[in-house]
Amino acid sequence: MASPAEATSRASRLVGYLCPACDALHGTDSGALLCTCGSPLFARYRLDAPSDTRQIAPRPRGMWRWAEWLPVRDAAARVSLGEGDTPLLPVPRLGEALGVPRLLVKDEGRNPTGTFKARGLAVAVSLAKEAGVRTIALPSAGNAGGAASAYAAAAGLACRVVFPEGTPRACVEEARAHGAEVRMAGRHIGEAAAALRADPPPGPWRDVSTFREPGRVEGKKTIALEIFEALRDGELQALVFPTGGGTGIVAARRAIEEQEGLGRRGLAGRPKLFAVQGTGCAPVVQAWEAGRDRPEPWPDPTGPPGLRVPDPLAGPLILRAIRETGGAAVAIRPEEVAKAQSDAARLAGLSPGLESAAALAAVAVLRRRALLAEGDPVVVVLTGDRLKDP
Ligand SMILES: [Zn+2]
Repeated sequence: MASPAEATSRASRLVGYLCPACDALHGTDSGALLCTCGSPLFARYRLDAPSDTRQIAPRPRGMWRWAEWLPVRDAAARVSLGEGDTPLLPVPRLGEALGVPRLLVKDEGRNPTGTFKARGLAVAVSLAKEAGVRTIALPSAGNAGGAASAYAAAAGLACRVVFPEGTPRACVEEARAHGAEVRMAGRHIGEAAAALRADPPPGPWRDVSTFREPGRVEGKKTIALEIFEALRDGELQALVFPTGGGTGIVAARRAIEEQEGLGRRGLAGRPKLFAVQGTGCAPVVQAWEAGRDRPEPWPDPTGPPGLRVPDPLAGPLILRAIRETGGAAVAIRPEEVAKAQSDAARLAGLSPGLESAAALAAVAVLRRRALLAEGDPVVVVLTGDRLKDP
């Protein structure tokens, strides 16, 4: 058991929620989930000790060892299924095939429910529990719905998930198995979200959609924190994310900013952030290539389910994360995705989902465009396992 002093030192250092669009500060007890201006909110913390990973490293494994930098203040409200501390694996054979031999993958498929969604929903569900919420709901292209259902079950909350038609069956069955109320509506997650808001659950409920509450992005931040902990300055040139709603890449930008605020990592150690979409739904890439600050809605999304997000709420934040770190956004064709999925299986023993395969394929594209050099140490975040969409 942790001593009282230790437990106190692991309390959240949350001081409020800051709007990245209009700079409004919302108090910890304001209950605000979005800013009054409509922007997502970012948790803000006291930037003081313990800032050193030497203090955090010996703690029991898992995402909650970063408790100071997560917004859940009541330790009794924390819901965990063992998420976090996924492997960071060198994959030299696959890296050589893609043109970057020093390639590493962060295998987020090892999380509970098989995807990186576990981290964000562990925090979102914990915040809901802390606030006394009894019902959560969300639209989902697949994996978030499964994770939300599992964490809601563990927390004893009711959960409704609205999936668009064509969602991978394993995800729908998973949500049902965890006791969620499952509905099917719309052709993509945007239409599923509209259906949820048009016909919400009865009584008070919390919307835990991507960026509509501040917990999910904080949980995802721990992916970057674990990568920074494992690598020294200079050992990381680029972080590559499959990008649908954009939580992963925006969270990584937040992790860099907080680490710099703590004096832990200078600008020289700042990795470039790359966003990867499929050519069938690439609103962020289109905006990036046109030099715009916000994406325009994509009319008829196709491609990997997790990347079919036609109008991401955090579009401006995704574009800002790319720009501020010197990264880029690239779109991958379906045949390139399929080849990367096969290469990952044959050359690295991995089983990435289609979204993750797109991110691997992007490495070769970025090399061809000279946005990555052969000797660059690069980490690709594999967000989920192929078994969720076989
Ligand atoms: Zn605002």
